[in-house]
Amino acid sequence: MALMGFTAQPAAMAESMIGAQFRAVDRMVAVRILLAVVSIAFVLLLYWSLAPLWMLAGWSLVSTISIVPPIRAWRVRRQRNYEGLRRRDLARHAIGLLMQGLLWAGPMILIAPMGDVAHAAALWTMTTCLIAAVAMGFFPTPLAAVLFLVAVSGGAMAMMLRTGSGELAATVASFAMLMLIASLRQARGFGRQIVTDSQLAEKRETVSMLLREYDDSRADWLWRTDNARRLTDVTPQFARMMGIDADAIEGQSVLQVLAGSSWSSGEFDPALRTLAERLKAREAFANLVLPVEVDGTRRWWELSASPRTDERGVFMGFHGVGSDVTVQQESAARIAQLAKFDTLTTLPNRLHLTEALEEAVAGMVRWQTRSAFLMIDLDRFKSVNDTLGHHIGDRLLAQVAERLRAVCARTAFCGRLGGDEFAVIIPEVDDPAQVERLAVAIIARLSQPYEVDHHMLFIGASIGSATGPRDGRNAEALIRSADLAMYRAKDEGGGKHFAYVPTLHADAEVRRKMELALRGAIERGEMRLEYQPVVDAHSGELASFESLLRWNHPEFGEVPPAKFIRLAEEARLIGELGAWVLRVACAEAASWPVPVGLSLNLSPEQLCDQTIIETLKDVLATTGLPPERLELEVTESIFMREGGDAVRRLEEITALGVQLALDDFGTGYSSLGYLSRTRFRTIKIDRSFVTGAALGKPECVAIITAVVALAKSLGMQTTAEGVETEKEFDTVRDIGCGRIQGYYFGRSMKTEDVHRLFDRHRHQAA
Ligand code: C2E
Ligand code: CA
Ligand code: CA
Repeated sequence: MALMGFTAQPAAMAESMIGAQFRAVDRMVAVRILLAVVSIAFVLLLYWSLAPLWMLAGWSLVSTISIVPPIRAWRVRRQRNYEGLRRRDLARHAIGLLMQGLLWAGPMILIAPMGDVAHAAALWTMTTCLIAAVAMGFFPTPLAAVLFLVAVSGGAMAMMLRTGSGELAATVASFAMLMLIASLRQARGFGRQIVTDSQLAEKRETVSMLLREYDDSRADWLWRTDNARRLTDVTPQFARMMGIDADAIEGQSVLQVLAGSSWSSGEFDPALRTLAERLKAREAFANLVLPVEVDGTRRWWELSASPRTDERGVFMGFHGVGSDVTVQQESAARIAQLAKFDTLTTLPNRLHLTEALEEAVAGMVRWQTRSAFLMIDLDRFKSVNDTLGHHIGDRLLAQVAERLRAVCARTAFCGRLGGDEFAVIIPEVDDPAQVERLAVAIIARLSQPYEVDHHMLFIGASIGSATGPRDGRNAEALIRSADLAMYRAKDEGGGKHFAYVPTLHADAEVRRKMELALRGAIERGEMRLEYQPVVDAHSGELASFESLLRWNHPEFGEVPPAKFIRLAEEARLIGELGAWVLRVACAEAASWPVPVGLSLNLSPEQLCDQTIIETLKDVLATTGLPPERLELEVTESIFMREGGDAVRRLEEITALGVQLALDDFGTGYSSLGYLSRTRFRTIKIDRSFVTGAALGKPECVAIITAVVALAKSLGMQTTAEGVETEKEFDTVRDIGCGRIQGYYFGRSMKTEDVHRLFDRHRHQAA
């Protein structure tokens, strides 16, 4: 019916169908013209002498003219490439063929009675040719074919009846009927063909469009399986992502292909199992992420698919899309890793350690066991970090982590708390000596020399441990106890293990109190300065005094500066304290009868603060101390601080006319490079080299010799620190040190003693 143009269809579909119909019938156009010409000639020849000329001429003319419109319509269709055809065109075409049928029926009705049966038989023969030709050639436009057949066979039957043969008329009728049926059947087949063709074409169009799209984006691809979970229609993109030829995986089990080498081992990823289940259950799934092995490397794919069915609803397999999500997946894994592991050392981080400790504590409570927590702090790490820089420091930490991991192996869980602090958890302590053994092993291993970037580095470790439930019933309490024990180990000079004892809490309390006490120490007049003389190595004359800070607290007594200076730095009190020292010492030096030098210690923290320059200017102006008499002592660590601010501040200090000394030379991991960059007047050689040299240690002698030579070449002077004996004095003087400081010449003294000393000198001189 659709082919006849009787059923309304969606415009696009109707158009493409009518187009196909005309394409098919237009193949017959030459035959049609030929038939028309031949049949006209045939009729003219057959009835030339029988029919009146006007009749024959008139009919021939009309017949000839009648084929002109169909030919013109054909040409238009071709020009328009069979587009834009409507049902109207089908109707016109049918009417055209009907007209031709009627025109052909004309001679049979009007002219045939003028001849005999033989003429009629000849005409009928010609007619059967026409009927057959139209039935076979025009079935794609069944309406036109039917109209033509009806018209022509109607004419033929009339002719047969008029020439007197009922049987012949019946033969004509049955022949026409047969032809009609054959034509309609062909038409039906043709109709189906067009529908499937157009559907196929449409599908092909969609699929190729999708494929093009996916191929272009290169990230996603289509995949498809048959009902036995085998890959079918493998796209080039899919094959490329798989790193395999499309032919090689076509028809293979999708699970086997995705499983790769795990197929034979049987160790499937859980995601692959999920995929298998979904495929088996014929259930759609979306965004299933699974690992895939491509060219030996692991990639992550995200698959989505739904079951596909044929038009009767029979399951045909799956079709879906896939995309490579390796980058996203790896960054997700990386984020998870970052959350629990330390990036630098790859050890578990503080969070992870705390979780593990909480787990251990829970087990300890449930199973009535003991768990230990060890806190490790590296000794002298700060000085490596400060002198050689973070880069070396970081690499050193990585090596420490490696060693720690090796020592702990399977018996304990280790991690990094941050900075140079590490921790170890022993979830189950069977034997109290076990903690001590592990701690000693860790200290021994971590104290062996490290080689980083051609630097031989020596650091140590201090460990504090706490064992639950005795030293703490929860993670927090255990950590606090271990921390206190660790501080104790540090205070003892490092390189030791301390197990927690309850009195440590009191020690921590003392430290807290001390810090509190330090805040008001200046106001309460607990601080004072002492001055230690520095003498000329050759003349023995007083060259300068180094001011050293002293703190006497009513409860704690004399607190050594090594202790409270660190506390002041940690509590950010050093700025205030340093400014006080500067003011008092400069005022004191300005009052001295002899213009000897004054040395002051500056903490690295002080150099980080811009206000130090203003304070210096102010103090010099108010005390009237000539700047060249003042020498500020700094340690090498200031060069390793981040940002060049400290170094720039040194330049600002020298611009004021104040001198600089490099203190404790040799205790950091010294590089001589910066000695030439900053204008130091003095290098102070650390006491450890002085003692070493006097004991005849060649490396100590070599270092002092080298420093003295270098200082000379740079126009600097050297001071040997901590000279206690005559032997030490002789040694350093002989090597060439210009100045000496130490108990041998005098300890640090109170201001009264300094004045007394000056008085004595004046008396001696007088
Ligand atoms: P430093 O700058 O190296 O000071 C020299 C230290 O060596 C002083 O210790 C001094 O008493 C000690 N000493 C001097 N001669 C001898 C000797 O012959 N034998 C021995 N064994 N030791 C000797 P002190 O006073 O305990 O100071 C320790 C450190 O505290 C100083 O080391 C310095 O770094 C710091 N310090 C002291 N006063 C101040 C201050 O006002 N400000 C800052 N920022 N630091 C200070
Ligand atoms: Ca000093
Ligand atoms: Ca020193």
